[in-house]
Amino acid sequence: MSSKNNNIAETHGCIVCAKVFSILAVYSPDGKLLDCAVTSPGGQIVPDKSQPLVACDSHTAEKIEDAYNRWQARKARASTMKEEKH
Ligand SMILES: [Zn+2]
Repeated sequence: MSSKNNNIAETHGCIVCAKVFSILAVYSPDGKLLDCAVTSPGGQIVPDKSQPLVACDSHTAEKIEDAYNRWQARKARASTMKEEKH
């Protein structure tokens, strides 16, 4: 079993306006997100424990927080729906 971390290039949409950015994410061998950085100009990482999230530098902190809260609510709803299915 490899103990090396995996560097993975991903693309993610801005959580506010869905503009696409390139991201370099670092995962541990067991798939945990360790670190991530935006490799396209004009974007920034929105801190999240489980996956890389990105937003344009041009959005205000309030707007990004707002979108982040909406994103979390959407995710919570999606996982609830999945649980109800089985
Ligand atoms: Zn944006």
